[in-house]
Amino acid sequence: MYVKGIRSLFRFPGYVVSSISMSADLVQVNLRRDGRYRARCPACGAAMGVNRTKFQTARDLPLGTALHVILIYPAIQGHCSACGAWATIHPPGIDDHARATRRLMEFVSRLARHLPLSSVLEVVGVDDATAYRWDKAVLERKLPPPNLDDLRILLIDEKAVRKHHGYVTLVMNGITGELLYMAEGKKKESLQGFFQKLTKEQKASVVAVAMDRAGAYYEVVKEQLPDADIVFDKFHLIANYHAVIDEVRREEWRKASKEYKDVIKGQRYNLFRNASNRTSEQTHSLMNLLHMNRNLAVCYILKDAFKKLWDYKYPKATAKYLQKWILYTRVSGVEALRDFGRKLTKVKDEILNFCRHPITTGPLEGFNNTISRIIHRACGVRNLDYLFLKLRQESLEPDLPK
Ligand SMILES: [Zn+2]
Repeated sequence: MYVKGIRSLFRFPGYVVSSISMSADLVQVNLRRDGRYRARCPACGAAMGVNRTKFQTARDLPLGTALHVILIYPAIQGHCSACGAWATIHPPGIDDHARATRRLMEFVSRLARHLPLSSVLEVVGVDDATAYRWDKAVLERKLPPPNLDDLRILLIDEKAVRKHHGYVTLVMNGITGELLYMAEGKKKESLQGFFQKLTKEQKASVVAVAMDRAGAYYEVVKEQLPDADIVFDKFHLIANYHAVIDEVRREEWRKASKEYKDVIKGQRYNLFRNASNRTSEQTHSLMNLLHMNRNLAVCYILKDAFKKLWDYKYPKATAKYLQKWILYTRVSGVEALRDFGRKLTKVKDEILNFCRHPITTGPLEGFNNTISRIIHRACGVRNLDYLFLKLRQESLEPDLPK
């Protein structure tokens, strides 16, 4: 490309560069009106009389070693005789509210995706409060509204965003991975807001929904999408089973004699780990424990058997396997296991639906890291709208490095 000097970097239709002054860390670009252009009313487009001009400044992208690039331009204040509007005209591409060019704001927004907001200061000399405002403004302008058409699969889950019970409810399109909705809390109302946004046709397009067995979402989905299949998330169910093992482990520890307590101690994660993730030492101490404690051994064997449930492809075979597994819990002699088995009996359909719709809320788990990274980078959740925009950005452009 043939570049006609540095002036070509500052092309704003209706304006020409009258002078540029540069030092190692500051570039000042003076713009003036291009006499060939008439001022046009931003509201109706009619030619507009100029009442007065006022000089304003706007920041632009860094240039060479200069972090600060300042544009000085005449803003035109006028009155439109055609539509009666009073207006101030700025060079196109300048956000007069932010006192910056859009291209600088977009650059800051790109940086804010990969850097803590406080580091943006070092790279472009924009402080973190400004970087936050600009990033939010750019995302609001650039991200499309959630696409609520042709939603065949929905994934719903809650996420902790603050220590001590700060939750949000998230809804994702299970086919495209687009994050569609976020609301504060994990109650029924938190999810109801999503369905209020959907038309009848949009609701009818949903064939299956994956969610956690526990929680308030089930009732809402049953009511709003009576024809959709609900699939209880396998990872949540396995986590529920881990909680049962933990309960049994604690109980056995309480009952145990002192030297026996030492055998149980420190085995919590050994009981959850897959065999392939254990060191031989961990396997050895786990086997020692399972030899000595019948109840934990039963829990452990049934754990691997439980996970196999999701390997079955056909509902009939799965149902048979599940029934057998529940029967084992019934005869296990471990009350916590029997209790878990009873609970599963009640949600058999939602477990078997996995055969028809092999979906999980797993894609939403990916947001756990994103959420903590965004909160860390933004130095706390400044604003849930901002968090939603950032998560939507990640869900819409997942190919960019994180
Ligand atoms: Zn007008």
